[in-house]
Amino acid sequence: MAPPGRPDPAGGSGERAVPAALRAVRAFKAAYGGEPTHLVRSPARVNLIGEHTDYNDGLCLPVAIDRELCIALRRTDDAPAGADRRQPGGSAAAAADDDGVGVGAQLRLVSEQDPTPAVVPLPPPAPDTPPPARATGWARYVQGVAVQLAATGQLAGAGLVPWQGALASDIPLGAGLSSSAALELAVALACTHLAGSVPAPTELARLAQRAENAWVGAATGLLDQLACVGGIAGHALRIDCRALTVTPVPLPAGLAIVVIDTGSRRELVTSAYADRRADCERAARALGVPALRDLDALPADAAGRLDPAALRRARFVIAENARVDAVAGALAGGDAEAAGRLLLSGHRGIRDDFEVSGPELDAAVAAASAAPGCFGARMTGGGFAGCAVALVDRDRLDAFTAAFEPAYSARAGREAVLHVCSAVAGTSVTALR
Ligand code: ADP
Ligand code: MG
Repeated sequence: MAPPGRPDPAGGSGERAVPAALRAVRAFKAAYGGEPTHLVRSPARVNLIGEHTDYNDGLCLPVAIDRELCIALRRTDDAPAGADRRQPGGSAAAAADDDGVGVGAQLRLVSEQDPTPAVVPLPPPAPDTPPPARATGWARYVQGVAVQLAATGQLAGAGLVPWQGALASDIPLGAGLSSSAALELAVALACTHLAGSVPAPTELARLAQRAENAWVGAATGLLDQLACVGGIAGHALRIDCRALTVTPVPLPAGLAIVVIDTGSRRELVTSAYADRRADCERAARALGVPALRDLDALPADAAGRLDPAALRRARFVIAENARVDAVAGALAGGDAEAAGRLLLSGHRGIRDDFEVSGPELDAAVAAASAAPGCFGARMTGGGFAGCAVALVDRDRLDAFTAAFEPAYSARAGREAVLHVCSAVAGTSVTALR
């Protein structure tokens, strides 16, 4: 297990890892030669409470955390004299690359996590391009953002500017820390910044969500993108997914947010997600409300109007929305113990009523909440596998870790990776020279 506070990027060793920003710049030079002109940084997010509430028009409380995805980039339509526009792998390719597309007419991105570059020809495909004609793999996210940007006409003047970039990331993929939103927002900010017309954060988040929903085909809510783009150092974000408002909630000094990557990953999470969404919609319809957000409590006759699954889902969502405000109030008032107790009750609800926990997540929550210094813990993210989050007294992190590690491996039969996180700012871009 990586010691607390030490990032554990893909490809990292036991040594203190090279920051993602530096790795991105190095990867850029190796792939293309010359210097990048811009660096985009996009944080992961962890949701403290308010799970599966976003698509019910409800409330959630994520934190943008200091595990980031970085893109070092340079536009290719005005490369400075002497800069060489080599393609990944080092072949001189000023004219056309192996896709047959000139470098001046595309977005091209390499990732240390995937040997195949993401290439988007400009102008990008139309939004109604049938799925078989779309990019595959991680390039879908890059392409989806470009498609949405071009389709919504949000770019002034010249529109999408061609660029090449290199990506490095400390966000584990598919662990529920939203590497996909970090990628989408980084690409969206790169494109809009180079075009000289960056939309408001909420607009950028909606655009990234459309890319994920309509192009990639993942029916996710807006939580991930809003949290990633809207992060504020030292604060959690109370997000109202109906009003699309983001309210900063100060985190108590001395409180550590510990993300526990249980090491488990599940296939077929997408179909379970769609099932839960359908359960919630069925419950709202049967109870005569536009969304479960509209209920503060289950009606007395709910059991007669809902099938058992819909009843359990509705009970969870209603209680979970209330927990968001209760946790936000506790944190703002410096009461980490109350916040921790609410996280534990949230975990019981998501395990028993929403039924999206998993054995490793339950093991992590049990081991964490029994360890010294821990105020409370719960699974976080879509469910079944991935990460849990614990609120821990920063002064007792060593004791927490020492107790957690053997307890978790005894329960789960595997090791977890602990990330001790701070709350950071959202997606940003810096000019490098
Ligand atoms: P999560 O958002 O919880 O990490 P998702 O399944 O929503 O999980 O998104 C993960 C996907 O995002 C990856 O499979 C990959 O396609 C893409 N992705 C995220 N980060 C990177 C990266 N650094 N390099 C390449 N692809 C990435
Ligand atoms: Mg995702």
